[in-house]
Amino acid sequence: MDAKIVLLPGDGIGPEVVNEAEKVLNAVASKFGHSFEMPRFPMGGNAIDSHGNPLPDETLEACLASNAVLLGAVGGPKWDDPNAKTRPEAGLLRIRKEMKLFANLRPIKTYSALLASSPLRPEIVEGVDILFFRELTGGIYFGPSGRRDGENGEEAYSEMVYSTGEVERIVRLAAAAAQNRKGNLTSVDKANVLETSRLWRQTATKVVEGEFSGLNFEHVLVDAMAMHLISRPGDFDVVVTGNLFGDILTDEGSMITGSMGMLPSASIGSDGPGLYEPIHGSAPDIAGQGVANPLATILASAMLLRHSLSLEEEASLIEKAVDDVLAAGHRTKDLARGGASLSTTEMGEQVLAAINQA
Ligand code: NAD
Repeated sequence: MDAKIVLLPGDGIGPEVVNEAEKVLNAVASKFGHSFEMPRFPMGGNAIDSHGNPLPDETLEACLASNAVLLGAVGGPKWDDPNAKTRPEAGLLRIRKEMKLFANLRPIKTYSALLASSPLRPEIVEGVDILFFRELTGGIYFGPSGRRDGENGEEAYSEMVYSTGEVERIVRLAAAAAQNRKGNLTSVDKANVLETSRLWRQTATKVVEGEFSGLNFEHVLVDAMAMHLISRPGDFDVVVTGNLFGDILTDEGSMITGSMGMLPSASIGSDGPGLYEPIHGSAPDIAGQGVANPLATILASAMLLRHSLSLEEEASLIEKAVDDVLAAGHRTKDLARGGASLSTTEMGEQVLAAINQA
C-alpha cells in the first residue's frame, strides 16, 4: 500500500514522541512491503512562531489531502498569554472542524505488567479493554448558549441539541467496531431526564436493531455508568455516548490505567483522513529531557493503521510489540516507580526490536 501520513509533531515532547512513532511506522512499512510518505508540517505554538497561525493553510491542505494525520501535542507556557491574538488550542479545534471529525475514539486498555499503576485494585482492572466512541461535534458544547436577564438575576444557558443524523452516524461506527471486537455495545445517555437522550436512545436502538442484529446491545444511564466504570470496568467492550458525557467518562476511564503516557486516541469522520494522537499534552515540564514515554503515540500510530488504512495485522503487531516490551520489564520514567528507566529513544528501540523479531 502507498499512503501519505502527515506528521504534526507540535510542541514540547510532541516532536520527541512523534519521532519514535515515525520509526515504528517505517519498520512496519518495510516488514509488510508498504510505502508510507510522512511529510512534517508545523502546527500549534511552533506554527504561531513561524507563521503567526497555529494551523497554517499549507498544514491544513496537506492534512486534507492525506490518508491520515499523526499529531504529537500542542501548547506550552510560551503561548499561554490570555491576551495573545491566537493560541495553539485554536489550531486543534479548527483542524477537527475542517476535517469533519465527529467521532473521538479512546481505547482504555490495561496491561498486566502495569496493573500496579492503577488507582484501582488489580483484580478489578485486570483485562480491561474498552473502546469509547464520544460524539465530538454536537451536543451541549455546540448548542445555542448565552446570557439574559432572569427573575433571580443574570441567567446563563447552554442547550444540548442532537439530531437523528448525528446519532446515527456515530452509533453506526461504534456498532461496526463492536462487530469486530467482542460484539458488546453499550450506549450511554440520560434518557430518564433529557429529551435529547430520549431521541439518542430511540435512534441508537433503531440503528442497532435494524443494521447490526448480532450485537449484545444495552442502554446505561450516565450516572450509573460512572459507577460501573470504577466497579466493573472489565464488563464493557464498546461504549458510545454524546459529547458531554463522553468528555467526562473518557477522562474517568483514562485513570483506570493509571498512566497518561500509555493512552492513544483517534478522531474520525465518515470518510476522509482521521487524526491520531496521544491523549497527553506537550508536557513542558519534561520537554527536551529525552524521558517522555512514546508508547501512547506509538499506539496512536497502530490506531491509524487500523482505522484509516484498514491494516489490522500491522496494527495488532504494534500493539503486541508494546505488550511484549512492557512484559519484558522495560519502563520509561513515568512508569518506573523509581526503578531503572529507559529514555524516549531507548523505549522506541525496544518496540522496534520487538516488531523486527515478530
Ligand atoms: P500534560 O499531559 O502535558 O502533562 C501532565 C503530566 O503528565 C506532566 O507531569 C507530564 O510530564 C506528564 N506526562 C504527559 N505525557 C507524558 C509522557 N508521554 N511521558 C511521561 N510523562 C508525561 O498536561 P498539562 O501539563 O496539563 O498540559 C501541558 C500543555 O499541553 C498545555 O499547554 C496544554 O494546553 C497542552 N495540552 C495539549 C493537548 C493536545 O495537544 N491534544 C492535550 C492536553 C494538553
